Amino acid sequence: MKELDIYAIDAVLPQTQCEQCGFKGCLEYAKAIASGEANINRCPAGGEVGIEQLSQITGFPIIPLDETRGEHVPFEIAVIDAKRCIGCKLCVRACPTEAIVGCGKHLHQVDEDRCTGCCLCMIACPMDCIEMKRVGRDWTKEDADHARKNYKIRNIRRAKRQEKAEQRLQERSSQIDKKAFLLSLMKKAKSE
Ligand code: SF4
Ligand code: SF4
Ligand code: SF4
Repeated sequence: MKELDIYAIDAVLPQTQCEQCGFKGCLEYAKAIASGEANINRCPAGGEVGIEQLSQITGFPIIPLDETRGEHVPFEIAVIDAKRCIGCKLCVRACPTEAIVGCGKHLHQVDEDRCTGCCLCMIACPMDCIEMKRVGRDWTKEDADHARKNYKIRNIRRAKRQEKAEQRLQERSSQIDKKAFLLSLMKKAKSE
């Protein structure tokens, strides 16, 4: 089997980062296709057109969309019902493109320019106050490129935040160790 170019595959994936394919984002699905782990028919967002493009790139035959992964639906974006939102931020954590703005315990809104229609916020919302609204136009290659960039930036920011949190934890635990050591010395000195 010829070696497949992961980035060429990723370039034709829609980049909504919806995870319906069963992988953590489009690039992971592209890797799975390239390694032969996954078929080319698992992306509902790309639909039949996407399968044709993947077939051209990979040389794999065209097969019908695997509808157990979901249906192909027209481009939609999320809308938050302000009256029911409790500002819990679960949608913010779920969003792959940082499209939801707001702060803790306050209303959250969707930045339409960043929303990919992935539905992950709607799934995460405990108040059922997010709905998907049809946009009335197709999802374009430009939209996909914009979403890929936003997703990458979000992942870099998350990794940095995670690294800082781990550093803080390490610093705190070494301070605790030092404190415990000093206390044990004091105890020992008292008992002598
Ligand atoms: S758009 Fe969704 S289903 Fe399609 S490859 Fe990307 S993450 Fe997977
Ligand atoms: S998950 Fe729902 S309730 Fe929580 S902040 Fe988002 S929209 Fe509001
Ligand atoms: S706002 Fe919701 S639907 Fe839009 S990209 Fe973020 S998680 Fe997906």
